[in-house]
Order: sequence, then structure tokens, then C-alpha cells
Amino acid sequence: MTTEIYLDANATSPVLPAAILAAQAALQQCFGNPSSSHAAGLRARALLDDARSRARRVLGAASGRLMFTSGATEGIQTAVLSALCAVRARRAAGLPCGDLLLYGATEHKAVPESLAHWNALLGTGLTLQALPVDAQGRHRLDELRTLAPRTAFLCTMAANNETGVVSDLDGIAAVLDDTGSTALWMVDCVQALGKLPLALDRTRIDYAPFSGHKLYAPKGIGMLWVRPDAPYTPLMCGGGQEAGQRSGTENMAGIAALGAVLRALEEGASFRSHAQLAAMRDRLAASLRAAFPGIEFNTPFEHALPTTLNFSVPNRSGKALLDLFDAAGVRVSAGSACSAAQAAPSDVLLAMGLPQERCANAVRMSFGPLADDAFIMEACARIARCGQALLAPPPAACPVTGSGAPAQPQAPVPGLAPCALDAHGLAHFLGAHPDALLIDVREACEHALGTPRLHGRAAYSLPLSRLPEHAAWLCRETRPLVFFCRSGNRSAQAARIAQELGHRAVRHLAGGLALLAP
Ligand code: PLP
Repeated sequence: MTTEIYLDANATSPVLPAAILAAQAALQQCFGNPSSSHAAGLRARALLDDARSRARRVLGAASGRLMFTSGATEGIQTAVLSALCAVRARRAAGLPCGDLLLYGATEHKAVPESLAHWNALLGTGLTLQALPVDAQGRHRLDELRTLAPRTAFLCTMAANNETGVVSDLDGIAAVLDDTGSTALWMVDCVQALGKLPLALDRTRIDYAPFSGHKLYAPKGIGMLWVRPDAPYTPLMCGGGQEAGQRSGTENMAGIAALGAVLRALEEGASFRSHAQLAAMRDRLAASLRAAFPGIEFNTPFEHALPTTLNFSVPNRSGKALLDLFDAAGVRVSAGSACSAAQAAPSDVLLAMGLPQERCANAVRMSFGPLADDAFIMEACARIARCGQALLAPPPAACPVTGSGAPAQPQAPVPGLAPCALDAHGLAHFLGAHPDALLIDVREACEHALGTPRLHGRAAYSLPLSRLPEHAAWLCRETRPLVFFCRSGNRSAQAARIAQELGHRAVRHLAGGLALLAP
């Protein structure tokens, strides 16, 4: 498996080649400070102005503030600070103002966390409340109608990062209008850029944060748009850059790269249309249905971004599926917060009222609007192989070469962990121990998807989950053992077990196959 099929675009995307070139040019030729008045500074200023003008055209935001930020988290922070300072002032002046900070129940963590943080820090004393969503993940407009008169600040998202569910922003605006709400309104537009039409000037949205790295720009660059009459308080003060709205010397490489992405969006030739993307999504869905009978899609496609699929497979944890896809070189994300040991069910899916098991098993597959047919075809082929790999038989027993009495089980020695090898250490160890046994402790289905020969040697399959059955063999085996897995977690556990069983020459590959050069 030489190429990686990257299907985790909602987490972050690769960088557009034109964006890399633009960043490189900004670093090499156009490195001036846009605040300087000499020619080098003026060239940098022109680059900055050009990127901003493009952004205004792409976002349909001719009016209002449009500033570059470090990303959406900063934009959200700035919007929350601005809104809460205004609410505090209104309340201090005895003006009518709601008492609720209302946020969509499926918002990115950055929103409720920022609301709680600034509400406490500013002593605003408002009540945080989640606006529930329905089974399709869309905001409950009936609840909003009840809560809108009490709402001081409303935060919703344009599209959800886990499920791709697209919010009914027109419906929300209509409820705010109908109820005469004075609420300020932030819409997290991170997942909308390049995937949904935006015409910010024509909406009633007050704050719209964006992030570059979700659409082919690098990490560390974003934008915040603020409606002309919306209250504004800078988050960062200092040299007065960005017209005093956001101090700090501008990230010119990031801005140049984002400018190149905005240019591609404006010109329209590079990115696929909604219909093309929906057809690609349907092909992926068909191959998933064929590979995983019983699969359940967690969002109705008609209300979701065409670039996001969220699904669960009964009796297969999201973590196990992620491992399986990873073994096939397909990068996806478990739709829930995962640690190596346990997967927490996704809050977003729980908020939609899906059963606990389905929420814990969720997987997200997301691609960007640059995807082409060849990419989707290869992704479908690998999904099919993943389905076949699940039928792989359990591993045969490893050949024993040990002789004599089995080693006696040892009590674990506190603090004496089995030796971890990095890539260099692995080469050295295998060179020094031609008899060492390489053991792949991933599941049999992961092994079946193709296991690289490490330094010319084949590996045996002995999944961590089956290690107890093979304890007798492990006790007898006298050759050095080198365990490896995908990320280094399972192999570290296997090495510890082998050591506790009395094996004295145990190694494991730190960081796993993921860190070995492809
Ligand atoms: N909002 C949404 C919907 C996101 O998906 C993300 C990133 O995961 C963020 C906010 C935070 O963006 P950034 O990484 O630019 O701070």
C-alpha cells in the first residue's frame, strides 16, 4: 500500500499546491512587514489587501469587518468576547437584554467552552443553555421560538464537523425576526467554506468565524467576519494591525496560502460542484453498504454536506473500524472522542438521540471538494478490501523453536518497562538478532490487509486480544520478540504481557507502523 487515501478532511485537509507556492513566495520574495512603508512593506500590504478582497467576494461580505485570525478558535473567542462585552454594557445600562447564552447542542467544543470561559471571566452572569437538535441533527426551531426572547447571544454552526448536517440558517433567522429577538448571532462557518454558498451581507448573522486548514490552507490561519453594526471588542491589542481589530504582525505565509485557496474558489475550476460531490458520496456509501452489511448512516444525506459520511456498523467499535481502515491506508476518524483504551460515545450523535452503542461505534469519512474520480475509485476499492479482511481467519499458532522448560511467570518489576525501539533502533536490533521474531499484534483483519516486511522480514500475526490463548507458546519461546502494531499502544501492552510471562528479550516498536517511512 503505497498511497494514503485521506478521508478525514473535516479534521484538516492537505494543502493546495498553489497555496504551498503562494506561502513559499510570501516567505522568500514577499517577506516584508505589511505595516512598513518602504517598498518591501508595500508589496506585503498588496498581498494582504488582495487576499482580503478575495475573501470579501467569496463570502459575499462587501461590508463589515473582515480580519485574518489564527483560526476559528480565535475567531470564536473574539466573537464571544465582543458579544458578551456588549451584553454586559446593555445590562449595566438597564437596557432590555436576554439572560441566555444559547448554543446549538452539537456545536464544536470551542463554542460552549468559550462561552463558559468568558461568561465567568467577565462576570456576565448569563445562563448557558444548549439548543436541542432533532433526530436529523437540525436545531429545534420550536424550542428556539420559545427561548429567542430570552436569548442575549445565539451560537449555531453552518454545518456540523462530525455529521456534516447543514443547519437551517434561514429558519433560525426567521424565528429571530418573528420573535423580535435582540440576540446577537454567531454562525461557525468552518465546515461551510467551499461547500455551501455564502452571502453574509444578505443574512442577519453578526459574527462568522472561518478556518483555513479545513479547506486546503495551512493550519494557523483563519478569518472572522463581523457585521457592520455588530459590537466589537478586540481580543488582542498591541501594534494596531488589522486596523486595530487584531494586533500582532500578520501571518503572511498563511494569508498568502489562504489567498490562493480563495482564488481557486473564486475561479471555480478546481473545486467540484455540489452535484459531483454528492455523486462521489453516493459511490462511497454504496461500497460501504456492500462491505459492511447492516451499516447505519447516522445522518440523512439530504440534510448533510455531500463531503461527509457518518456511520456505525453494529457490533464493531469505531476504534476497531478506524484500525481496520488505517491498515488499508484509508485515514478516517472515529466520530467519537477516542483513547486507545476506550471510546466515548459522540456527544453530537447523543444529542441527536441515537442509541448509545451506535454513538460509540460511529466513524466519520470526509473528503474535500478537490476529490476526483480516481481518488474515489481507489477509496471504494479499499473499502471493499476492508470488508473482505473482516472475514480473515484467526491466525495460525506461531512456530515454536524454544526448547526445555517453559519460563516461569514473573511478577512485574515496577518501573521496568520492556524496551521500546524507534525506527532506527528496530533496524539495529533486527540486524543484531537475525533470529528475532516479528509479531504483529493488530487484529487478524488488519494483518490481512497487507503487512509490510520490516527490514526484509515477514511478521507473524498474533492479535493482542488473543495473546492469553498463546501464553504457553510465549513462555516457551526463547527467540527475541519484537511486537508492533498501528500506533504503538497495543504492542507496548503485548510486550508487557510477554515480559510478565517470563520472556526476557522483548521489544516493541514505539509509535507503531504509523511512524515508519512508507
Ligand atoms: N468549529 C468547527 C466546526 C470545527 O470543525 C473546528 C475544527 O475542528 C473549529 C471550530 C476550530 O477550528 P480551528 O482549528 O481553526 O481553531
